[in-house]
Amino acid sequence: MDMLIGGKHISGDDLVDVTNPYNGDIIDTVPIAHRQTADLAISEANGAKDSLQEMSAFKVSNKLFDVCEKLKQDREDFAHLLSLEVGKPIAESLVELDRSIETLKLAAEEAKRIYGETVPLDAGLNGKGFFAFTQKVPLGVVAAITPFNYPLNLTIHKIAPAIACKNTVIVKPPTEAPLTVMKFCELLNEEFPDGVVNTVTGYGSEVGDYLVTSPDVNKISFTGSVTTGLMISQKAGMKKVTLELGGNDPLVVLADADIDNAVRGVINGAFLNAGQVCMGVKRIIVDEEIADEFGEKLVLETEKLVMGNPLDSTTTLGTLINEKAAIQVENTVNNAVEEGAKILTGGNRDGAFYQATVIDNVSQDMDLVVNETFGPVAPIIRVKGVGEAIEAANNTEYGLQAGVYTNDYYSAMKCANEIEAGTVFINKQSTFRTDNMPFGGFKNSGVGKEGIKYAVEEMTKTKLIGLNLR
Ligand code: NAP
Repeated sequence: MDMLIGGKHISGDDLVDVTNPYNGDIIDTVPIAHRQTADLAISEANGAKDSLQEMSAFKVSNKLFDVCEKLKQDREDFAHLLSLEVGKPIAESLVELDRSIETLKLAAEEAKRIYGETVPLDAGLNGKGFFAFTQKVPLGVVAAITPFNYPLNLTIHKIAPAIACKNTVIVKPPTEAPLTVMKFCELLNEEFPDGVVNTVTGYGSEVGDYLVTSPDVNKISFTGSVTTGLMISQKAGMKKVTLELGGNDPLVVLADADIDNAVRGVINGAFLNAGQVCMGVKRIIVDEEIADEFGEKLVLETEKLVMGNPLDSTTTLGTLINEKAAIQVENTVNNAVEEGAKILTGGNRDGAFYQATVIDNVSQDMDLVVNETFGPVAPIIRVKGVGEAIEAANNTEYGLQAGVYTNDYYSAMKCANEIEAGTVFINKQSTFRTDNMPFGGFKNSGVGKEGIKYAVEEMTKTKLIGLNLR
C-alpha cells in the first residue's frame, strides 16, 4: 500500500513486507520512507492548515460524521485486514472497529464544543475595565505515532480529535501493522482537503525520530513503549507532547471478593489480544486466604480458551505480533519458573502462538512482573490483607490502570485512594475503557490524557483576548 501525502499516493524504492503472524504469508508491502519523504509530509501538512482552519466547526463535524458512516459500511473489511496484520481473533477485531466508529463519532460531536471562557480580569490587581475571553486555538501540525496492538482505534484517538480542533496530521503507523490505519486515512482524505491527513511509513527510529525533532511539527501524540516515549520526551524540544506508554496493571482480589467475578476479570484482562494490551492485567495480587480456590477456578476458565486461526469466529486466543515476541514471553516465563514460580496451566509456545498461561507463587522481584510482559500470562502474587495488596500494586514503575475486587466499602475506598494509577476500577478489571473517559497513566505510564475531550485540550493552545473598555 502506498503512503498518502498531500492527497497523492507516494511509493518508494525500499519496501518492507507486512506479514500475517498466523501463517507467515505476506499480506502487502509498504514503503520504507526516509527523511526527505517525512519532510514532504511536514510541508504538505503545514500547507493544508489554512484550508482546514477556514472550515466552520459545523462542516468539520459533518465531515467527521461522514467518515464515520463510511467506516461503518466497511466495518467487516477493516476487521478482516486487522486480524490478518495483527493476528487478533476476528471477534476482537470487530470490537476494535466498533470502538473506532464510536471514537470517531465522539470527535465529530466534540468538534462543535471547542469553547473558550470569559475571564474576569477585574478580579486581579489593576484589571478593572477589561472584557476578556479565551479562545482554543489549534496547534498546527500534529504527528501521531502509534503501536501495533490496537493500531486503528489508538490512531483514531489521535487523528480524530486533532482534526476536530482543526490541526492537520501526519501519521506514522507501526511498521508491523500499518495497513488498517493507511486504509482509514484514505477514507479521511476523501472528505477533507489534500494534506489535512498524511501517512508516512518506515522505521520509527528514522522517520519517527525526524518528526519528533522537526521544528515544523507542533505536537507529538505518541502511544507505545516507555523506552521510545522517554527518547521522544528528551528530543521533542519545545513542542507539546502526549505520551501514552506501557502498563503493568494490577488486578487485586481481596479475601471477601466475588471470586467468579474476579476470575472473569482475569480472563478478559490478561488474555485479550493475546495479552498485548497496555492496560492488560499483568499482575494478579490475591489474598492468600482465597488464593488456592481462585487459582483452581482461573485454571478451569483459562483452559476453555480456543487457540487458532484468527479469522475463525470460534478462536478466542490469536497469535502474538510475531514469533520473536512469543519467544520473549516464553523466556520470561521460563526464567520465573527457574526462580521458583509454578505454572498451573499453559507455558508452551508454537511459532507466534503462546498458550494462555497461569503461573502461581510469583514473587515481586521476578522479571515477569517487574517489567511489562506483553503476552497471555496471568502471574499470581500472594499477599496478606489490603495493606500488603496496595503495597504490591504500587510496587512498579508503571501506573496506567488498576482493578480491585472487593465488596467491602472500606477496602474499596482505601484501594481507590492509595493505588497510584490513572484509573482505579472497583469490581472491574483494568482493561475496561470507554472512549470518552480521561485515559492516561501516572508514573512511567505516560504524560497527558486521551479520550476525545481530553485529547482536544492537549491539541489546542489557549489565547486570551482582552478589550480595554475604559
Ligand atoms: P514501540 O516500539 O514504542 O513503537 C511504537 C511506535 O513508535 C511505532 O510506530 C514505532 O515505529 C515508533 N518508534 C520507534 N522508535 C521510535 C523513535 N525513536 N522515534 C519515534 N518513533 C519511534 O511500541 P510497540 O512495541 O509498537 O507497542 C507496545 C507498547 O505500547 C507497550 O509498551 C504497550 O503497553 C504500549 N501501549 C500503550 C498504550 C497506552 O495507551 N498507554 C496503548 C497501546 C500500547 P516502528 O514500528 O517502525 O518501530
